[in-house]
Amino acid sequence: MKNLNAKYHFLRPNPELLPEARYLICPKCKEMLAPADIESFATCPFCNTHLEYSNDLEDFILAPLVAQWMNSTSALAARMRIH
Ligand SMILES: [Zn+2]
Repeated sequence: MKNLNAKYHFLRPNPELLPEARYLICPKCKEMLAPADIESFATCPFCNTHLEYSNDLEDFILAPLVAQWMNSTSALAARMRIH
């Protein structure tokens, strides 16, 4: 049964220097997981627990991709302004 409201704990180790850096705490083994660790399989690489897909989890996985996209878009916009 799907539980789209599964709740996860996230950790922001250094919000002042690295506001984008966020980790998911595995509900089972309590390891810190980076978005890239669970991007493909939504499975904890440490204990192999399957992470229930939720809106929180989706945000967590997509946030760095969106940030990267925003950066490359604004870099492109900056370059276009120069020329
Ligand atoms: Zn785990």
